[in-house]
Amino acid sequence: MRVALDELLTAENKRYSDQRPLSSARASRNSTSGFTGGVPLHWMRDWPQPFPMVIDTARGNRLRDIDGNELVDFCLGDTGAMFGHAPAPVMQALRRQEDRGLTYMLPSADVERVGELLFERFGLPCWQMAVTASDANRFALRAARAATGRKRILVFDGCYHGTVEDTLVDLVDGRTVARRSLVGQVQDPSQTTVMIAFNDRAALESELSKNDIACIIAEPVMTNCGMILPQPGFWDFLRQATRKVGTLLLLDETHTISTGPGGYGRAYHLEPDLLVLGKPVAGGVPAAVWGMTQAVNNRLFAARPESEHGHSGIGTTLAGSAMQLACVRATLEDLMTPENYEKMLSGAKRLEAGIEDFIAKHGLAWHTARVGARLEVVFSPSPVINAAEARAASDSTLERFLHVALLNRGFLLTPFHNMMLVGPDTTEADTTAFLAAFGNVLNLLPLEAE
Ligand code: PMP
Repeated sequence: MRVALDELLTAENKRYSDQRPLSSARASRNSTSGFTGGVPLHWMRDWPQPFPMVIDTARGNRLRDIDGNELVDFCLGDTGAMFGHAPAPVMQALRRQEDRGLTYMLPSADVERVGELLFERFGLPCWQMAVTASDANRFALRAARAATGRKRILVFDGCYHGTVEDTLVDLVDGRTVARRSLVGQVQDPSQTTVMIAFNDRAALESELSKNDIACIIAEPVMTNCGMILPQPGFWDFLRQATRKVGTLLLLDETHTISTGPGGYGRAYHLEPDLLVLGKPVAGGVPAAVWGMTQAVNNRLFAARPESEHGHSGIGTTLAGSAMQLACVRATLEDLMTPENYEKMLSGAKRLEAGIEDFIAKHGLAWHTARVGARLEVVFSPSPVINAAEARAASDSTLERFLHVALLNRGFLLTPFHNMMLVGPDTTEADTTAFLAAFGNVLNLLPLEAE
């Protein structure tokens, strides 16, 4: 099976390259100056296809590369463009800023409305802005530590919360160690961060019983190591256990905002003390928001000496700019609407049902995992409950093959574990066409029913 799969992948890679002479020429230009490797961000080289296609235009859920290949986009900028590329309300908001300016380190007139909307959506009263989800997580963690006067934080194996050093650890033989892929790291984050497996109640209880954890930072459904759903009752258990010992809960909803307009936490009543939302919150314009309960906010401000406001370690110059506020407002008012979520969720359910049919037809030991508009195919017969199981279920050659083969048939999935995100512009015709392509690609595979 492996030899055949390698050969199929080679053939798909060739087809990809043949269709893209212009992107290929750019990728092979051996420039000694300019962007390293020809990309402005090193992740752009990490896609499964032989080289990245250079994008010419993007609108709604369509991308066109400089070689004229059109793609139906299920990656949507890895969630940054979850509500579509260049969405009309955000583009109008940007145009309105033409005579209002982009940034002045003073609030713009949108501030009050955006604050109200965030409170209505997420149920937390106190908010601040950042430029990226990484920064928002960093600031929210600092707030949690200041508010509790504790140093240690707890994270789950397989997590990713951006470039926040404190969260970049691995779980190796039951021990927390600095993430082995980190470069240039000086402080050892494992001194103040403990990592346990998701859904592991005993480990959670044991760590919390030390009474020294400021905060748990977590995605309500883990999305960065495959997709790992919480087991029934896990969040209730965690919430009760954390409240008992004064540990705060920081929910990172950057990806799970795919659930609905108030994120997973609102839909499932998780009642976080702090919440972070980045990526799509301004429709693709760089912005993130983080919120707190009144109690956390009061404790944070009590802990902060007034004289040293400027150097609290929270905030950056462009955070909360007029441009961000205008785009967050447009996104909350006109894109993160119940109607749009209804379209997204029904599209994702259609995709899931169609893929499940193929899995059943071929007798494959696979399943789909979904959180709202976001879904993945997992190469295991039943849901994985932690990162160790998710890693065991992953198959990088098969993932690569599916990715490139679907790309060659006009469908773009995320570079990481082939996640699919359904946006408001994804039509029924798009999901039908995707399923036909998925079926054709499965037919190529030398699959043995398991
Ligand atoms: N939180 C989560 C859950 C993420 O998946 C990511 C990025 N994939 C981030 C935070 C960081 O986002 P950014 O890179 O935009 O700072």
